[in-house]
Amino acid sequence: MNSKSNDLFKQIVNLICDFVNHSQENLLWDSLRYEKIWNEPLVGISSGADPLYRKIKDDIGEFYWTPIEIFNMTFPHSKVCSSDLSVISWVLPQNKNTKLDNSLQDLYPSERWVRAKIYGEDFNKKIAWHLIEALKKQGYKALSPMLSPYFDYKESERYGYASTWSERHTAYISGLGTFGLCDGLITKVGKAMRCGSIIANINIEPTKREYSHHNEYCLYFSNKECMECARRCPVNAIDEKGHDKIKCREYQRQVIAKYTKTNYNIQSSSCGLCQTGTPCESEIPKFKDELVNKKR
Ligand code: SF4
Ligand code: SF4
Repeated sequence: MNSKSNDLFKQIVNLICDFVNHSQENLLWDSLRYEKIWNEPLVGISSGADPLYRKIKDDIGEFYWTPIEIFNMTFPHSKVCSSDLSVISWVLPQNKNTKLDNSLQDLYPSERWVRAKIYGEDFNKKIAWHLIEALKKQGYKALSPMLSPYFDYKESERYGYASTWSERHTAYISGLGTFGLCDGLITKVGKAMRCGSIIANINIEPTKREYSHHNEYCLYFSNKECMECARRCPVNAIDEKGHDKIKCREYQRQVIAKYTKTNYNIQSSSCGLCQTGTPCESEIPKFKDELVNKKR
């Protein structure tokens, strides 16, 4: 990485981490019961010209955006090409208590998990705005695809209901992790996390992807073992074929949303049981032989 690119990268990491570590809004309960929603984030960069963006669009459907498409929709008069753009992606790890509480549940999410989903996502949006504003002051143009007025959900021929931008796919392209059997993204801090991203006309060298396959960190895809996420799912929406999005969504909308409203007075359809209580919850899971070697 050249020194200008390196400095910009450090500056971006500091902007995100300082905000997450010190903002009074990263708060799970209220100021009287202080507990941070998100721990220290991971940050990765990918180029707007990375061919994986096009590949994912071809796979999901024509409605899925490449970085240059949503950038040009947002800033129609700017004359940039894909390689002038960087995509900045971040991963927000759930705190220890949230993971523990949810791992002890077997039918419904814990209150901490639900609060992290609702208030944590509000805070995630603030991270994006914070970064956009900071870059704007330095003369860059930046946008958050998830916050774009054009953001939408459409029907993908291959995958059913899908959004015009996926934070998890963006994090994967930006070197932050690979997909598990349950569709969650397994990162260095595990898959109990949320992610976000922005696109800017800033030139930063991309983060190296330390993997060669999109399922590399999942134990099931390596040796057909594990399947703990499938065992955690109360409606059998995960099996050897992967994640049944329709079954999962039905349960979340029809059961979880009612349960959270009645029991926590917050309506959320996030279940997250398959993200906790698994070997990939908080780290890249270790293979049995790695564990044996570690104990020696
Ligand atoms: S629980 Fe096991 S099978 Fe499921 S995603 Fe994690 S490593 Fe893969
Ligand atoms: S999020 Fe979906 S797939 Fe995961 S445990 Fe809940 S219902 Fe099952």
